[in-house]
Amino acid sequence: MNIVVLSGAGLSAESGLGTFRDADGLWTKYDLSQVATPEGFAQNPALVHDFYNARRANMVAAAPHAAHSALARLAGRAGITLVTQNIDDLLERAGAQGVIHMHGELARALCNACGHRWDAPAKMAPADPCPACAAQATRPDVVWFGEIPYAMEVIEARLAECDLFVSIGTSGEVYPAAGFVAAARQLGARTLELNLEASGAIFDEVRVGPASEVVPTWVDEVLAK
Ligand code: NAD
Repeated sequence: MNIVVLSGAGLSAESGLGTFRDADGLWTKYDLSQVATPEGFAQNPALVHDFYNARRANMVAAAPHAAHSALARLAGRAGITLVTQNIDDLLERAGAQGVIHMHGELARALCNACGHRWDAPAKMAPADPCPACAAQATRPDVVWFGEIPYAMEVIEARLAECDLFVSIGTSGEVYPAAGFVAAARQLGARTLELNLEASGAIFDEVRVGPASEVVPTWVDEVLAK
């Protein structure tokens, strides 16, 4: 069976990494247009680096929980595709390989001048030179609003082939990821949502509960088949 799993901020909430749109989410404390757009970065790169440096420090201090570990048990099996909107590395630290980070990764840096990518240091700053071309144009390797998410061709191909689409801990408000469930349904897949609160999007089945509980239960069911 081909399964595509899409995860969002809710997957990492119980590790202490804030979600974006919940009542106490990150966007209630920061202005999205300042810290998560190319225009905001052009205007004040130091502020944007500070924001992501803080996110990176939180990530390093956090630990994966039972849902990350359960998904790591699925990853790498034939027919399984893990796509995440999360920029943290908790799936990898739980042992998952081959995760598609459609919104990039906090652990990586990108040169705006030459496109080179490398492991991000704990703290990035506007004057950091690119290790490949020396331009002082380094940025976190994350996809900002207004930019095209990574690996869309691969994701669309996997959605077209999947028998089951599973959405974990995402509010379904950020496109194109929010459109994956409708695309999968249209292409004939069964759809399942695992979330603390139902997103309201149309799924064949919705299981409500914290990721640390509902995800391991579902993974055990899949592995038992
Ligand atoms: P969102 O903040 O819009 O929605 C959070 C979702 O998580 C909600 O549906 C909520 O019901 C659910 N949730 C909260 N606690 C949960 C729990 N314990 N178990 C299961 N579900 C839980 O998040 P989103 O839909 O991923 O938003 C999209 C954007 O937010 C993405 O671009 C993503 O990159 C970014 N983001 C990433 C991180 C991270 O990397 N950890 C953190 C915050 C935001």
